[in-house]
Amino acid sequence: MTTFDSRDPVTGDVVATFRVYDDAAVGAAVVDARRAAQWWGELGFAERRRRLTAWKSSIARRMGELADLMHHEGGKPVADGTLEVVLAVEHIAWAAAHAADVLGRRRVRTGLLMPNQACTVEYQPYGVVGVIGPWNYPVYTPMGSLAYALAAGNAVVFKPSPHTPAVGRWLVDRFAEAVPEQPVLSLVTGAADTGAALCRAGVDKLAFTGSTGTAKKVMAACAETLTPVLIECGGKDALVVDADADVAAAADAALWGAMSNAGQTCIGIERVYAVDAVYDEFVRVLTDRASQVRPGPEPTADYGPMTTPEQLDVVRRHLDDALARGGRAVVGGFASVRAPYVDPVVLVDVPEECAAVTEETFGPTLTVTRVRDADEAVRLVNASRYGLGAAVFGQARAVDIAHRIRSGMASVNSVIAFAAVPALPFGGVGDSGFGRMHGADGLREFARPKSVTRQRFAAPIRLTTFRRHPMAVRAIAGLVRLVHGRR
Ligand code: NAD
Repeated sequence: MTTFDSRDPVTGDVVATFRVYDDAAVGAAVVDARRAAQWWGELGFAERRRRLTAWKSSIARRMGELADLMHHEGGKPVADGTLEVVLAVEHIAWAAAHAADVLGRRRVRTGLLMPNQACTVEYQPYGVVGVIGPWNYPVYTPMGSLAYALAAGNAVVFKPSPHTPAVGRWLVDRFAEAVPEQPVLSLVTGAADTGAALCRAGVDKLAFTGSTGTAKKVMAACAETLTPVLIECGGKDALVVDADADVAAAADAALWGAMSNAGQTCIGIERVYAVDAVYDEFVRVLTDRASQVRPGPEPTADYGPMTTPEQLDVVRRHLDDALARGGRAVVGGFASVRAPYVDPVVLVDVPEECAAVTEETFGPTLTVTRVRDADEAVRLVNASRYGLGAAVFGQARAVDIAHRIRSGMASVNSVIAFAAVPALPFGGVGDSGFGRMHGADGLREFARPKSVTRQRFAAPIRLTTFRRHPMAVRAIAGLVRLVHGRR
């Protein structure tokens, strides 16, 4: 049996050793999951809610243990890990509590043509859902698929990132305590090959969170069997500071949005567009506060190391390119990259075509660009091929600006707030992906609508028979002309 180690990104110490699931092992997990799906589906919403609540309670009670594990395996400070668990617990609670209302059978109106019918729609589980997760938020991110897919009545085969398998196993172990009868949530571990095997293993839907490049491979693999996919990819989120913004609050939010978790956040702030009237003050407050933020190995650091060495190379390349093409670092600079850490870097005057503005950096770096007005800000924000989240600081026009930004989510006068509201759907446009986790849309993402219509009595005008009266179509056409044909 082939194995791999997950390691502490600071010390290199082995955290745990895992099996590399090959095609056969992944296939066997999906076969087991299919039996479990039948059983879980038949339990019904109320019993599933009870089991999911038990899972949620166990995670909530033991969140300290989980946050410690996240610190060792991914490097993030314990407080950040704790916050992530808090959000995940809220999502399980919401999905469990709302699944019956959102997905359960309900009557719908018959409309003009079929008054003799009684119609219902319900949302049935797919069966087995494959979930492939990233390392940057190893609890919160997969939970957006796990909790919602499970609440909808599916079994799930979960492949966590090879950088954070121990966190994935912890979640699956707690679930097995709440649901010991069947492998309703099971774990397969490994890297790209294991993920690719899961795409081809006969799952009924595949929920992928990770980079845009990998998402394309996942879609291509799933296309072979017409397996539907939910795609949650990276972003290049921007924060707009309008002329009537609370500039200190905007600077504080931009700093945290950009640097927390070492910038390794899909909805992290990577670009700021500040209007001319407040630009200088914004940069002054931001640089002042950014120089006080420091990464480190301690559980109480502002943020931790870059989780993977490859990510350091991306940050270096983006800085190099920005500085070579006229950008200036007003906080930090090239020397800020000191593996495995990157100190905060704030760049100004970076041309819009630089990689630091167009590509996902995924590091604690931020570009700040002066714009004439909010319209120019919206134009530049929307020039990105990504469109995940966004933030706007301001008063009179802020909500309007938030609506005009091409993204799945936006928060006004805060950052990332939408991620903590379980009822709000979460997902991207363009290279950030499609489909939604969270909220009612997130539950429906993991279920198929099933429509049933029952004839209550024979229609007075029978249309769907070869024995229909010649007057029947004329009568119905006359009715439709009367109701819909008026100018
Ligand atoms: P990644 O694309 O390298 O890997 C993601 C997952 O896909 C991992 O589990 C990996 O093992 C697996 N994988 C790799 N190759 C595969 C293949 N050919 N077939 C199937 N699976 C394969 O991403 P990452 O570096 O782990 O995560 C960081 C990325 O995730 C960033 O771009 C970040 O923005 C994004 N992200 C998005 C969200 C969101 O909700 N939109 C949330 C968190 C992270």
